[in-house]
Amino acid sequence: MNILDLIYKKRDGGKLSREDIRYFVEGYTEGSIPDYQASALLMAIFFEKLDEEETYELTMAMRDSGDIADLSAISGIKVDKHSTGGVGDKTTLIVAPIAASAGVKIAKMSGRGLGFTGGTIDKLEAIPGMRTSLETGEFYELVNRLGMSVIGQTAHIAAADKKLYALRDVTGTVENTGLIASSIMSKKLASGSDSIVLDVKCGNGAFMEHIEEAEELARAMVKIGESAGKRIAAFITDMNQPLGRAVGNSIEVAEAASLLRLEEPDPELLELSLYLSGAMIFLGGKASGFHEGRELAREKLESGAAYEKLREFVSAQGRDASVLSDPEFGRKAKYSADYVYHGPDAFVSAISTREVGLASQHAGAGRARKDESIDPEAGIYLEAKIGSLLKDGSIAARVYSNDEGKLRTALSELKGAYRFSSSEPE
Ligand code: URA
Repeated sequence: MNILDLIYKKRDGGKLSREDIRYFVEGYTEGSIPDYQASALLMAIFFEKLDEEETYELTMAMRDSGDIADLSAISGIKVDKHSTGGVGDKTTLIVAPIAASAGVKIAKMSGRGLGFTGGTIDKLEAIPGMRTSLETGEFYELVNRLGMSVIGQTAHIAAADKKLYALRDVTGTVENTGLIASSIMSKKLASGSDSIVLDVKCGNGAFMEHIEEAEELARAMVKIGESAGKRIAAFITDMNQPLGRAVGNSIEVAEAASLLRLEEPDPELLELSLYLSGAMIFLGGKASGFHEGRELAREKLESGAAYEKLREFVSAQGRDASVLSDPEFGRKAKYSADYVYHGPDAFVSAISTREVGLASQHAGAGRARKDESIDPEAGIYLEAKIGSLLKDGSIAARVYSNDEGKLRTALSELKGAYRFSSSEPE
């Protein structure tokens, strides 16, 4: 077999076999296929697309390129949840405690944020003393005892995807359904859970801006999961504005904790959290249907059991959970500045999610390169969201940072993210 033959085959609209795909994935991972030929094949795939079978084979080849977690030491049905990425998405910190308090087992491996999107591990590390790298034995023990643990995903999971994703990132070949679906699902399948709930983001802050593309991606991932013998469900959810009100790290942990205490929760964040955790409870075998799962999720939230689960998790995997109830947590940065609206009465008609994410990144909450450090206290709080009515002098948003220069940059970027209209938007 020769990589050039595979490039010709795909370029001319042919179908790659299981052997072709394994040859490519194994050769690229071990270094016998160079970047320039892998890039050419990726670009051919980008234009000619992968069919269902090819997408499945690519997923499995990438899954098998690294470690596959064996969660058999954890009793019960293990449920994973994955979001395709967004701004202000702190749902793991909410839905894992809800589902775990209903008896579901969550052995979750999460990632860090990159660019304008955030990552769960950065959020967890904003909690003083939190450990995100555990020995396997302790990870299993925590899941068996508490029902949940969240750790950083190692480089040994789907090693081929790590290398291929970095190449796609610099060759304009990220936005392709088959490539995205196989990349995400290879990691999910290697992470070892029995059931998976997917949150496919759609809108101006997501990979998929249009509902048709988001549906195509959701269906592709569900198909892969089912073919691999998993119970799997996908939701397509809005990313046309940040999720909830907080964007950053400690500030998002504070919002998640306050939602679990039901203190004036953001309605969309609450609704999404109940949908996702309801599906996790159902797929985890603790409810006979999705609606029953959602009712159980609501019960766990309202009884305080889910908040107590978050506290137990933070005490066990970190130092102490008292920060969760500290009203100042998430607002401790040295500098803060308000974005004050000036003008005639107006409704917020749109928010560029990507620009809010970039403003938060530039305040210090995110990184442009994987090796950059972040400021856990940097972030943004959105007082106004789509549909809010602003009067002259109203505060639309607030920026936090430990660096005054970064604060100013973020504040001016944030102002560019808002659009206004004199009539109420739909
Ligand atoms: N997230 C991934 O892990 N892979 C992609 O290709 C896109 C988003």
